[in-house]
Amino acid sequence: MDTEEDSDIIRCFQHCSNKTNIFYCLQLPTTCPLCGGDVINSDMLLPPYRIESPFTDAARWPFVVVVKPTQGTFLQDYQNAANLHTGVTDSKGVVYEYDENGITIGSLSWTHCIAVSFSDLLTNRVLETEWDGQLDRYSQDLTWVPQRYHEENHNCFSFVMSFLKLNGVLAADVSKQHFLTQFLIKHLTKGSKYISLYRQIITEGFLCQPAQTI
Ligand SMILES: [Zn+2]
Repeated sequence: MDTEEDSDIIRCFQHCSNKTNIFYCLQLPTTCPLCGGDVINSDMLLPPYRIESPFTDAARWPFVVVVKPTQGTFLQDYQNAANLHTGVTDSKGVVYEYDENGITIGSLSWTHCIAVSFSDLLTNRVLETEWDGQLDRYSQDLTWVPQRYHEENHNCFSFVMSFLKLNGVLAADVSKQHFLTQFLIKHLTKGSKYISLYRQIITEGFLCQPAQTI
């Protein structure tokens, strides 16, 4: 794995109190922020373990909708209510996306995205075998040329949602707002909590929190 990804990993441990979790990113603090004791050469109540990140590489996720900030990355740049960009993956995790440049297939810029699975809606396996062919034909449609792009009305979300409606994953009358509320908000909320934790850790080098809140 690349070093950028490594630097994004949050770990947690308990030193001298099981009531306080201590979080860090790059380096285990050498001194315990609670008791001032030496962390490296003393026993910990709970050795470091990795906090699961809500951000993932699209390449690992076939048949999903992927989401990331239009500008920059979630961890470094994202603010709540910032513009989001979205795409859809094929059976191999290759991302199909639409923006002002038209269709892009296989961009490698989706290594820290949110992946939303619709597997519970893909009830028959026939759909999975047809998914790639459908997506290929669908993305070649002249609907998705650069000239027709419109920031509000004909954008990346139009592309993704129309595809999900075409193959029956979404009902025809689902609005963008409904799509966001039903499928994306819970992932974005989880993402925001992780981002907030990450940024506090980066600022201080570590973060202490009562154990029961995580
Ligand atoms: Zn301690």
